[in-house]
Amino acid sequence: HKILGIETSCDDTGCAVINDKCELLSESLYSQHLIHLRHGGIIPDVAQDLHRYNIEPIVSGTLQKAKLTMSDISAIAVTLKPGLPLSLAIGMKYAKHLARRHNKPIIPVHHMEAHALVARMQYNIRFPFLVLLISGGHCLLAVVQDINKFKLLGESIDCAPGEIFDKVARRMKLKNVPEYSKISGGQAVELAAAKATNPNMFKLPLPLAEYKDCNFSFNGLKTSVLLHHHRKEVEHKIVADELIPEVNDLCAAMLMATSKHLVHRTQRAMEFCHKRNLISEDNKLLVVSGGVACNDYIFNALSILCNETNYKIFRPSHKLCTDNGVMIAWNGLEKWKRNIDIVTNLDSLDIEAVSPLGQNLISNVK
Ligand code: ATP
Ligand code: FE
Repeated sequence: HKILGIETSCDDTGCAVINDKCELLSESLYSQHLIHLRHGGIIPDVAQDLHRYNIEPIVSGTLQKAKLTMSDISAIAVTLKPGLPLSLAIGMKYAKHLARRHNKPIIPVHHMEAHALVARMQYNIRFPFLVLLISGGHCLLAVVQDINKFKLLGESIDCAPGEIFDKVARRMKLKNVPEYSKISGGQAVELAAAKATNPNMFKLPLPLAEYKDCNFSFNGLKTSVLLHHHRKEVEHKIVADELIPEVNDLCAAMLMATSKHLVHRTQRAMEFCHKRNLISEDNKLLVVSGGVACNDYIFNALSILCNETNYKIFRPSHKLCTDNGVMIAWNGLEKWKRNIDIVTNLDSLDIEAVSPLGQNLISNVK
């Protein structure tokens, strides 16, 4: 059996085919990143047009690379939630079109669940495990008990870490540096931070420090970074396209504060799991995934925590941490093998822009 996976939830058109021996037969990814960079952010209409334009060649190309046709495919897995409605709609419509034409079932996929479960494709990770998902639109901690069975421990009460990296990078004009001109804001911040000489010159707050729950907040951090940045711009009389001289130090300070916050909350989650017996002593595993998980500074900080708490830490390879079609095909395959969510009544399927992974178990605990 072979599963075709389609991803269009945000600004990447992704596709992949995986067989029931868990082998990746082919994959394709079209990133709209450079186009959105010109607009200073994702414009949903533009994203939709690009998905519409690219979906057919991306899917056909993926099948061709594996020397397959639709008749070789057992089911089509597609991201239906959460994401930008206009983007999700293109993936769903195309998946339904293929499913009707070739008489195949559809396996609906939750984008964040796919980010979490794809780690199982590369490592031997048994349920239940702890997951920290850090991306452009989300920040959450959950216990993954099974496919479709997540216990949410905490989430961001405002924005996501990738989002603040992207916004701050834009305000700092990092893309004017040729080396950073074609990469994501998060990657640019990481590279700039590595060149810092005095990150401690900037004092940043530790978000939600007085709360004992596992929620996150990044808005305050973003505001303080932008304030420091503004002060330095005024101080140095910065004009137009110039960067502040302390840009590397400020990036490092932001990255350190973000890591500290993530480690702090993850530690809380581990304590909570221990108290409630949600994670067994012989299976203490932490999976870190989502685009921001590519960040080595953050990953190393979490590794130190895991070392202290006797957790094993796993993260998918960089390509699988950011959006891709492989994780959708993988989620489809896991569901196919267990006979979960295999839908033949296509009219019953629709997209959902917002879709929490469950109810937050711990909230607002001082
Ligand atoms: P979501 O999965 O929540 O819907 P998304 O799909 O847009 O959001 P991903 O593709 O998973 O997000 O991740 C993209 C984000 O990851 C961007 O915000 C980007 O800046 C960030 N990112 C990528 N590489 C790094 C890095 N090395 N350090 C920090 N952030 C990074
Ligand atoms: Fe994502």
